[in-house]
Amino acid sequence: MTELPVAHPIASPQPGAAEYPGLDAWRDLPVVQQPTWADSEVHRAAVSELSSLPPLVFAGEVDLLRQRLADAAEGKAFLLQGGDCAETFEGATADKISARVRTILQMAVVLTYGASLPVIKMGRMAGQFAKPRSSNDETREGVTLPAYRGDMVNGYEFTPESRAHNANRMVQAYHTSASTLNLIRAFTQGGFADLRLVHHWNKGFTANPAHSRYESLAREIDRAVKFMDACGADFDALKRVEFFASHEALVLDYERALTRIDSRTGLPYGTSGHFLWIGERTRQLDGAHVDFLSRVRNPIGVKLGPTSSADDALRLIDKLDPQREPGRLTFITRMGAGNIREKLPALVEKVTASGAKVLWVTDPMHGNTVTSPNGYKTRNFDDVIDEVRGFFEVHHALGTFPGGLHVEMTGDDVAECLGGADPIDQHAFLERYESVCDPRLNHMQSLEMAFLVAGALGKRP
Ligand code: PEP
Ligand code: MN
Repeated sequence: MTELPVAHPIASPQPGAAEYPGLDAWRDLPVVQQPTWADSEVHRAAVSELSSLPPLVFAGEVDLLRQRLADAAEGKAFLLQGGDCAETFEGATADKISARVRTILQMAVVLTYGASLPVIKMGRMAGQFAKPRSSNDETREGVTLPAYRGDMVNGYEFTPESRAHNANRMVQAYHTSASTLNLIRAFTQGGFADLRLVHHWNKGFTANPAHSRYESLAREIDRAVKFMDACGADFDALKRVEFFASHEALVLDYERALTRIDSRTGLPYGTSGHFLWIGERTRQLDGAHVDFLSRVRNPIGVKLGPTSSADDALRLIDKLDPQREPGRLTFITRMGAGNIREKLPALVEKVTASGAKVLWVTDPMHGNTVTSPNGYKTRNFDDVIDEVRGFFEVHHALGTFPGGLHVEMTGDDVAECLGGADPIDQHAFLERYESVCDPRLNHMQSLEMAFLVAGALGKRP
């Protein structure tokens, strides 16, 4: 982390905000990556509106997820977390949302088979509207404007009006999240997730001759589904799946305004999503993000990049999971394919030796970003897979559990990452590069990753 924390004035607590001791302590701490909208009338009105709107997720669901993640931390389940780098308001259409959910369900079926374990399904969805940036500004042809920070903060269009930070966008992010979640709940509870249907979709993947190397695994899964059917498995019960929403808890005005006190337990919950994570750029031990998230009951993730020391990890555990509660804390490592085998072992060893039970997840995307010769931000599929393999190798060598996969992916046929069995080359970027932030695996690359990871999981001792 090269960025130094800078103090930034954020308006004091709003009347109407849920009250609990310490929930506003972050306001006195150094905070990075925040919009510059503090203390305007628009900002006050937006925060106060958010404070009075209904929660997007419920405390009981959040508690259930914590239990599921506790299972994963113990090696009894595997987490699949995927979605856009940056969701957009415009992209929140039924087609795009359903394609993403569908792809995650398809990946999950393959991984469930490979791991012989339940797979916890989680979208980077319904809230992933704010982005940390390495630079405050962007310059195009001599014109400098504020950098795009996600639809929750400003617009992608390169004009002064669009790039101005606008607190009303937080309210729009809430409503877009609500309609996204509504559709996700309908799909995953209303029959769309039927195992037989999802399995049938996967046949489209292996029908492509480029994917013939995955045919034998696909046939095994097919036999398993037929076997379940012959045994009289209750496929009706398998029509419903649990699906959780997650995002980076970046804009603290938004997260604070959506914090609610649960009437059963009397404790604060972030109700903007089930699982909230702290990014690589905002995980300062004495910073506002770590403090704020230490005070909500949600399961929390922290991204750990190649500069993370074991000491950082131990101090994060002390702050975020002082009770050592299984399921509370997930470390999402994003080291880069070239670093993971060297950097991860010391972290895992020291954390394990401390007695903490964290869940280890690999994000094989963010340490592997490169620029293509024709100037696009991209990732090589082979590097992504190599980081996943390195993650598995390290955990297998140490006898710890590689508990999950965190990916930037979409259900659409975009061209943003290079390679795959049916390869994407850089020329395809000209027509099919849609991301407003980082490059995502497309539908086929996502499924291919699931088949490759399922193979690696199957080799588990
Ligand atoms: C992200 O997940 O899009 C992101 C910004 O990741 P990181 O915090 O790991 O850089
Ligand atoms: Mn990203």
